[in-house]
Amino acid sequence: MARILITGGAGFIGSHLSRRLLKDGNSVICVDNLLTGQRENIADLEADSSFRFLERDVTSPYDTNVYGEEKIDHIFHLASPASPNKNSPKSYIAYPIETLLVNSVGTYHMLLLAKDHGASFLYTSSSEVYGDPEQSPQKETYFGNVNPNGPRSVYDEGKRFGEAMTFGFIRKYGLDARVIRIFNTYGPSMQKDDGRVVSNFINQALAHQALTVYGDGLQTRSFCYVHDMVDGLVRAMFTVGSSGHVFNLGNTDERTIQDIAELIKKKIDPSLAIENMDLPEDDPKRRNPDIMKAKTQLGWSPKVSVEEGIDKTIEYFKTV
Ligand code: UDP
Repeated sequence: MARILITGGAGFIGSHLSRRLLKDGNSVICVDNLLTGQRENIADLEADSSFRFLERDVTSPYDTNVYGEEKIDHIFHLASPASPNKNSPKSYIAYPIETLLVNSVGTYHMLLLAKDHGASFLYTSSSEVYGDPEQSPQKETYFGNVNPNGPRSVYDEGKRFGEAMTFGFIRKYGLDARVIRIFNTYGPSMQKDDGRVVSNFINQALAHQALTVYGDGLQTRSFCYVHDMVDGLVRAMFTVGSSGHVFNLGNTDERTIQDIAELIKKKIDPSLAIENMDLPEDDPKRRNPDIMKAKTQLGWSPKVSVEEGIDKTIEYFKTV
């Protein structure tokens, strides 16, 4: 049984990861300051004696004692606001400084903890490091096209800094660490009000409101179901030889946002209207991961189709 620390463990992906790692027989320390994470996401785990919740901001001054004396074997560093929607109170636009700090200072602290404990480390970066990409699909070797001070920069540059910091520790200390670039992910436990496109469209449709498509809806994204994403994160941590590597994780089924609106409308209420609204500044036009590296080195590929995953997500949102 390994002892695993997850930052952002009460968030959308973090809570699914906590559940999966407990199921695999590990003990989990879930660290979250609940800025955008939610205690309800982990309510079913709190009775498990192998699970511990620690309410803490990882940007607070580094103190190894906070995390207990027992050896930590692996650290997954997921903590960060992640939604770009300026209308959402949970977005990184609403928390610009916190977002920069959790990905810089927070990453530094978690890397120090990994070094102190001899733990292996996984940093969750993002497809946002590619900015508005000039290449599609995006390969890990692409350096990206990022506006360094636009509205999304707090997240994009935060993630780029986090990657650089992780590689600093790999190069200077030989730390066992890897970087994952997470592409758009959806599924149960997404927050209703965090402004992501899948959750917005499903909740608008369930409330019989028009679906809000930003811009002409011809921009693309590729949507990965959360269980597939979690499986990729676990493989990336535990596959021998993954240290020192960057992996894209995401679904390669690229769709326009208009198509996603049509799909969700058809599933919930075909009579609903689609309302076009302003496209946010620096909204990437295309996003599609090249996942050849994860396929060959981690034996990973997504299994859940967008149709199936959206059905499961609709069922979830009917209950909350
Ligand atoms: N989007 C939209 N309507 C919404 C929310 C988002 O058309 O109600 C668009 C957004 O402009 C972007 C895409 O959907 O082009 C994905 O947005 P999301 O915030 O989910 O994630 P992103 O990939 O931009 O980080």
